[in-house]
Amino acid sequence: MYDLAIIGAGVVGSALAYTLSQYDLDIALVEKENDVAMGATRANTAIIHAGYDPAPDTLMGQLNVEGTRLCYQLCEELDVEHRKTGSLVVAFDEEQRATLDVLCQYGIENGCQGLEIIDGSEVRKREPNLSEKIVSALWAPDAGVINPWEFALAMAEVAVRNGVAFMPNSKVTGLSRHSDHYEITLTPTDSKPVSLDSRTIHAHYVVNASGVESDLIHNMVAPPQFTVQPTRGEYFLLDRTVGPLVESVIFQCPGSYGKGVTVSPTIHDNFLIGPNSEIIEDREDTAVTKKALDEIESLAKQMLPTLDVRASIRNFAGVRANSTRNDFVIEMSANGFLDLAAIKSPGLTCAPSIARYARDLLEQDGLTLNRKSDWQGGRTVVRFKEIPEEDREAFIRDNPLYGRVICRCETITEGEIVAAMRREIPPVSIDGVKRRAGTGMGRCQSGFCGPRVLEILARESSRSPLSIEEDASGSIILTEETKRGGCSRA
Ligand SMILES: Cc1cc2nc3c(=O)[nH]c(=O)nc-3n(C[C@H](O)[C@H](O)[C@H](O)COP(=O)(O)OP(=O)(O)OC[C@H]3O[C@@H](n4cnc5c(N)ncnc54)[C@H](O)[C@@H]3O)c2cc1C
Repeated sequence: MYDLAIIGAGVVGSALAYTLSQYDLDIALVEKENDVAMGATRANTAIIHAGYDPAPDTLMGQLNVEGTRLCYQLCEELDVEHRKTGSLVVAFDEEQRATLDVLCQYGIENGCQGLEIIDGSEVRKREPNLSEKIVSALWAPDAGVINPWEFALAMAEVAVRNGVAFMPNSKVTGLSRHSDHYEITLTPTDSKPVSLDSRTIHAHYVVNASGVESDLIHNMVAPPQFTVQPTRGEYFLLDRTVGPLVESVIFQCPGSYGKGVTVSPTIHDNFLIGPNSEIIEDREDTAVTKKALDEIESLAKQMLPTLDVRASIRNFAGVRANSTRNDFVIEMSANGFLDLAAIKSPGLTCAPSIARYARDLLEQDGLTLNRKSDWQGGRTVVRFKEIPEEDREAFIRDNPLYGRVICRCETITEGEIVAAMRREIPPVSIDGVKRRAGTGMGRCQSGFCGPRVLEILARESSRSPLSIEEDASGSIILTEETKRGGCSRA
């Protein structure tokens, strides 16, 4: 019997697990995929929004600025890659200029600091590559970029360190209310035939943080109150050799389509171009289409005329959990059941403030919160390429694995991969290593380092290379052994 079960280990579920792990509670964090951050949290624009975009009378507006502040604070405490870049929303005509005034007013009401409307010449002084046709822009100094999956993972790792039970490959397929608790049916989603039977766990409180599936989970225990409208956004990821394109995050003026196409630096010094916005039927459809990419290219070129998408090293898509409420759905929707549902943008930014808001709702509902005296926060990560040249030799002498570069594009060493495998939630796939150590993030996108990462993953987890997956459960890479007792590495 758990005190509380959280359904979904995206950034929202992970932030809540992190927050509640500071109290004396037995918590289960249940996830249908094989890792943390496998939904919207891994495929988004990775922007820490400053807080001027959502209307002040929405939960998004009320939680954004505190979320921004907490994001930066947690990134420092948990050693998560991030950079405060500031952002510009650009206007091409008087109508859009009027929208900037509305955004600025929203921002002031939401508590944003340092907002400024600047004219076209000032825009180009700050961002020389932007179009001559831009007449003005809203500058928000507090916007930034973050590594979104590292953020979720860092919070989940600390939660696990402090006793939260992480249950991957466990899809919630049933929820039934008993006198004072829920029975939760978990159906295994991994590819091991041995674990195909469903099992049940019990919890006094259930929190629904299941993203794009959150209306389905809600409907298992309460009358339908909202519907998720999965809305796909597609991207180009450009090689850093095109840079420097822009220093800050550049937004189009928002419209009925949402925040529009963005040109944004990433924490790895690449550039993200996108997303578009398309309502889709299948909640897991992350296909990338030529039509969307053409649309994104043309909209982005209006802002950045010299943009050349031939420098693209990857295209990908994420699915927003937009809903018929057009706001976050955060409420006790049934006895002992809290929805953190339909968390669309700026949900990545708001995750820590959503978690605090959720903690307060649960406490008001009767959950007893006693702080742990032995809670262990904090986290540090060795990033070899950030170690000063003069200190590297001593570092390698201490641990020779840091002397073996596995990912040549990003200079990631075997030492970093092995360290990632020894953290509280070890990776189980090649992309799991990528999300933790940064391998395969560069130009070759794992082309060269993928086989080496596979070998290390198999060796460190004592698994057969044949069982190693590329990413989600079932994405097996190798099908059979072709050379028995073959060449050993010199
Ligand atoms: C294209 C796009 C761009 C965005 N850009 C930004 C941005 O720049 N800045 C920003 O602040 N926000 C942005 N967002 C929003 C942000 O990414 C989301 O709000 C945030 O990631 C939502 O987190 P979550 O934990 O609610 O959902 P998710 O990350 O989707 O996590 C939900 C988890 O629940 C699991 N799950 C689902 N059903 C079940 C089940 N039955 N049993 C067990 N587990 C289940 C899923 O596998 C998933 O891991 C963007 C979103 C998208 C899609």
